Amino acid sequence: MVRALLLVVVCVSAVGVAGLAVSADSISEKARKLHFSSIVVDTHDDTTQRFLDGKFELGMRSSSGSIDIPRMKEGGLGAIFFSIWMPSKITGPEAVNRALVQIDAVREQVRKHSNELVLATSAAEIREARRQGRIAALMGVEGGHMINSDLGVLRSYAALGVRYMTLTHTGNTEWADASTDKAVHNGLTDFGKDIVREMNRLGVMVDISHVSDKTFYDALEVSKAPLFASHSSCRAICAAARNMTDQMMKDLAAKGGVVQINYHVGFLSQEFRDAEKGNPELDKARSAELVKLCGDNEGCQIIEGERITREYVEQGKLPRVEFGKIIEHIDHAVKVAGIEHVGLGSDFDGANMPYGMEDATKLPKITEALLQKGYSEGDVKKILGENTLRVMTEVERVSRELNAGK
Ligand SMILES: [Zn+2]
Repeated sequence: MVRALLLVVVCVSAVGVAGLAVSADSISEKARKLHFSSIVVDTHDDTTQRFLDGKFELGMRSSSGSIDIPRMKEGGLGAIFFSIWMPSKITGPEAVNRALVQIDAVREQVRKHSNELVLATSAAEIREARRQGRIAALMGVEGGHMINSDLGVLRSYAALGVRYMTLTHTGNTEWADASTDKAVHNGLTDFGKDIVREMNRLGVMVDISHVSDKTFYDALEVSKAPLFASHSSCRAICAAARNMTDQMMKDLAAKGGVVQINYHVGFLSQEFRDAEKGNPELDKARSAELVKLCGDNEGCQIIEGERITREYVEQGKLPRVEFGKIIEHIDHAVKVAGIEHVGLGSDFDGANMPYGMEDATKLPKITEALLQKGYSEGDVKKILGENTLRVMTEVERVSRELNAGK
């Protein structure tokens, strides 16, 4: 999730492929085979917000948003982390209650669609889901504010199947600084470090997307398991504070972690970011329109924000960002961190998607583009999901060791 009042997008696309008159989204046979024989893992999707008002039908192809079962199947998405999210200003027991409602909503969707989905809590369960021809559904809590500074709540989330927690969202928690707030803790407090240790023991991945640079380094030092960034891009290309610097990506990689590239246009494109910053009235107008249309219904805001932002692009008020920008970030991260340390964390249904990556059906284009760039089939598989599965396996191993008192 990018922020409370949101901007997102939907539409059509264009990626050229060498050869005879091919359609805009043409995927070569080689790419198609590779893509559909790979386990494609997406570690950040905000579709959960759409579950909450009871109107959205995950099993039906929707004309809005980016995720539903038919489109996940069409795009070859094998595992999806549904985000448990609310603005970081919501704290205390209310945050816990709302998180539990969302966890239940995800679990209920899985139960209702058990022919197509299965709840997974480990890398082995993702592979097993694949063998059964089902999509693995996982959960990540996007923001430590939802544990109400209580390790017992963290343990309860883990018991319900949550397999990562982002230490902060956009605002600081009582124990960790966020990248988009004023630093007050100098990174992680002592209790924040205890939380990381408990996450290690529970086998809950430590997610550093959204945290301040100092929080990242504190977590990196304390964590016995590799860290991961569930949805972050490269700061060298787009200077968003929540994107990772080259040095951070190198240091994350040195400890075995993985950065999952985020597709949000405001994190991919400096030009888009500058245009938004240069015209704050646009954001105000969009926010006002969203409140009018949706009140505080986040699911509605996502869809309407998407529509309004694309209108601004069509009207020339914001620049058009193409899908290739995702590939540029993947390629940069691979050059900096290494091929073993990059994956996919779309932010679908929680952010503004570039033209050509409107929904899950477009995912094979990533495979096509990486092959065209000269990536080997094995390397493409790593980016699509194998790197994430490796980190999960390692996090699980560390958890077993800690529980055995080693
Ligand atoms: Zn986010």
